[in-house]
Amino acid sequence: MHPFAAHLLNWFEAAKRPLPWREKPDPYRIWLSEIILQQTRVDQGLAFYYRFIENFPTVHDLAAAEEEKVLKLWQGLGYYARARNLLKAARQVVQDHQGVFPGSAKALEELSGVGPYTAAAIASIAYQEAVPVVDGNVLRVMSRVQDYREPVNKPGGQKTIRAAMAAYLPESRPGDYNQAVMELGALVCAPHNPNCPECPVNAFCAAFAAGSAKMLPVKEKRTKVRHVFYDYAVFVHEDQIILRFRAEKGIWSKLYDFPCIETELDAPVEERGAELLKTFYAEGQLREVMGPITHVLSHRRITARFFIFDLDAPLQIKNTLHQAVAEADLHTYPVPRLVEKFLEQYRAEDLFH
Ligand code: SF4
Repeated sequence: MHPFAAHLLNWFEAAKRPLPWREKPDPYRIWLSEIILQQTRVDQGLAFYYRFIENFPTVHDLAAAEEEKVLKLWQGLGYYARARNLLKAARQVVQDHQGVFPGSAKALEELSGVGPYTAAAIASIAYQEAVPVVDGNVLRVMSRVQDYREPVNKPGGQKTIRAAMAAYLPESRPGDYNQAVMELGALVCAPHNPNCPECPVNAFCAAFAAGSAKMLPVKEKRTKVRHVFYDYAVFVHEDQIILRFRAEKGIWSKLYDFPCIETELDAPVEERGAELLKTFYAEGQLREVMGPITHVLSHRRITARFFIFDLDAPLQIKNTLHQAVAEADLHTYPVPRLVEKFLEQYRAEDLFH
């Protein structure tokens, strides 16, 4: 075994965090944790992991679930495409593989939402396949170990880092090695403050020797983020509120929000309030405008306002995607994080009454 891997594994044995999916190398649990951890940090991801395992102890239970329930459990993690792929992949495992996760990284990549990183993580940890993982932590650690000064978010960069990982990978313990590099990135080789003096592999680290650790990894700027304005109409009549089901494809597919005007231009409150009433054939009084709430997605920056209207009569629903829902049932509908932020504020201020 290369001394880099030996030092790292010794450290990992002593320092690793006791995480529930580390207790036994079960591919279902490893997969679930990996998909959740693509969305959040370990401390926050734990609650979601337990929530899923309690509701769906096996891949069979998850495969049999209603999509709406999965989306609801996922709520708070954002990027709902991952939740939809989670369900699709569980159904693939049950229907195409008799409930057993495929046994190699290559075959695992056939599952929905499982890319090279997740496939390598499952195969190396659950099946001891000697494949390196490459995620954000690995890119940072290995670019520093190699003092690699080219952009790591380009294909050439990924290839170089993968090769560096592979060069040190011990055939006997690939899963532990992969986890150890990621754990080092999480606990020691932090983005802004790498703790080099106490790092178990500093003797092998070219950036430590060169003093360049804090400048690495190099990343090339991504595409420009588009700024859009969402003006929501929150129509309230007695204890009923109108929700909109998002049937279209996209990141919020099959979630619920409110009737909305989406534009790239800001508009004054009076003008937009009148436009919302007219657009949705509603009659009532504008009680209050909440916001703006800003929400940033990968390619979009949303500035949202919530126009709360008291309707004179129940809304005549002209669109099959709109429905009247009792206030008490609102919490059962999966909603995007942006809407959740609004609802939290809405409830805190007791605006229904
Ligand atoms: S020596 Fe510093 S830069 Fe190098 S791997 Fe360790 S913590 Fe990261």
